Amino acid sequence: MGVQSLLVNKHACFTAPLCYKKQKTTPSSFHHHPSAMSASLQTAEPGKTRVGFLGMGIMGKAMAHNLIKAGYDVTVWNRSSSACQPLLDQGATLGSSPAAVVDATDITLAMLSDPRACVEVALGPQGVVKGLASGKGYIDVSTVDAATAAQVEAAVHKGGGMYLEAPVSGSKKPAEDGQLIFLTAGDRALFDAGAPLLDVMGKASFYLGDSAGNGANMKLVVNMIMGCMMASFAEGLALAEKSGLKKEDLLEVIKLGAIAAPMFSMKGPTMIQQQYATAFPLKHQQKDLRLALELGGATDQRLDIARAANRLYEDAMGGNYGDADFSAVMEAVMSKGMVDVGEDSEAQRRQQLYEIRAEATMLVESIEDRAVEAVEAAQAEAAEAVKEVERLRLELEGLKGEK
Ligand code: NAP
Repeated sequence: MGVQSLLVNKHACFTAPLCYKKQKTTPSSFHHHPSAMSASLQTAEPGKTRVGFLGMGIMGKAMAHNLIKAGYDVTVWNRSSSACQPLLDQGATLGSSPAAVVDATDITLAMLSDPRACVEVALGPQGVVKGLASGKGYIDVSTVDAATAAQVEAAVHKGGGMYLEAPVSGSKKPAEDGQLIFLTAGDRALFDAGAPLLDVMGKASFYLGDSAGNGANMKLVVNMIMGCMMASFAEGLALAEKSGLKKEDLLEVIKLGAIAAPMFSMKGPTMIQQQYATAFPLKHQQKDLRLALELGGATDQRLDIARAANRLYEDAMGGNYGDADFSAVMEAVMSKGMVDVGEDSEAQRRQQLYEIRAEATMLVESIEDRAVEAVEAAQAEAAEAVKEVERLRLELEGLKGEK
């Protein structure tokens, strides 16, 4: 079955160049999950719809803020509750657990770090599923793999709720500006009911299928490309400098050519300064590359460039840049210990040879020393023996004289 897609764009939807399927149609394979049919969900509306938001990290905080600004009644929860305070100051209510938030609201969104966090928050003892009832919706906007999305979807359906996976394209600034792109799949009724919420937080929403997976996969493909682009850009900056070129000049050249990208213009100047204020944490970029590589393994698709880029992000994490912005991959690229793999193994071979030679030399020297010591000891013993023989000879001669 091909991907069923639909773009809903609040700004000039049907003229946007991104719009690769313009007809607002329901995929023929679409079906509601039986439990989701038992109670209908009203289209979200400020003042009427109660919204839950789980996860007040970089992205969640900005997205929840926009919902409050748009007039929605928002209940928030975060694992470490202090992160909720700015939202409470803006008028949000604090939920005591994911289950309590879902219980108190109509549609709950979650923006969590990784698959593990999403499963814990959804299926844990005080998790989302515990608060579900027929007619409630759960929209997970975190970046996870398709299997995790499907696992949560099944649990939500079992609990009687509706599920939509909706990972986002866009970083901290688009989240603050309400300019994210949602890549959704799951219950169409929830997509329709939640559309006004997505419109507040984003500029476009793709509906990619009626069961979870396509949204996750689309997001991983996009972020794999982004991670490779950033790593390659960092290598370009480093190589330009090593070749005696000005990195600023490289930025200007790139900006005017076919490989120009907003990401290069936005991150380039700070990368040159080696400043990495976090918009997209490097640890999350590495997680997305890891998940994309797993997807490559599952689909038998070779991903050599992504594999090499992933190694650089892993190195940067080893260098303690996990919480820095993903542009800090620059530090791994510039690090002496992380030169080209071929050169690296050649350098290691030379080092091993040097160490073996040094050890052999020490061994020979110690054998020579011991041989000299042994010869000297033998000579001393022989001299003693000669002296003893002489003493005995004299003693014998003395005895003969007495006779
Ligand atoms: P973040 O600032 O690191 O926030 C992560 C959130 O997840 C925090 O609220 C954290 O709670 C929570 N969390 C982590 N482990 C948890 C667990 N075991 N149980 C409960 N909560 C847990 O990350 P972010 O930048 O907002 O990104 C969130 C998601 O969006 C990630 O999947 C990321 O890949 C994706 N994304 C990010 C960007 C971006 O530019 N930042 C862009 C697109 C997509 P604590 O505060 O208690 O640690």
